[in-house]
Amino acid sequence: MTTMPKTAFTPTVDAAGDPTTCFCCGMRAVALGVNPNPKGDPQYLCRRCIVAIDDYKKIRRLDDYELAALDGGVDAVGEWIAERGIGTELSVYDELDQRMLVKAAWEGCARALRAALASAPF
Ligand SMILES: [Zn+2]
Repeated sequence: MTTMPKTAFTPTVDAAGDPTTCFCCGMRAVALGVNPNPKGDPQYLCRRCIVAIDDYKKIRRLDDYELAALDGGVDAVGEWIAERGIGTELSVYDELDQRMLVKAAWEGCARALRAALASAPF
């Protein structure tokens, strides 16, 4: 049996057994896990990653994909800051701007991760 790597998003389940974060991208998971070992973390996925379930198997090279995801997050944050036009000093951001900045990073990472998985050469 192939052992799947741990990600920054485990555990994907709470104490009650309900899905929390997506094993692949960290977004909100739904009730579909991909761990073949019933004793381990269920490795729940989000709706978007379920759609890309075939690509999920490419996650074995996660380190490369994590780097691509980080680059995507950096790009998304830079774009958001430029569009918002309030500079890079976080202390002047209100709560909404702080959340929108993190949202941009989060979505940018997830988007870049999916793109990297979709274009993997295997
Ligand atoms: Zn996901």
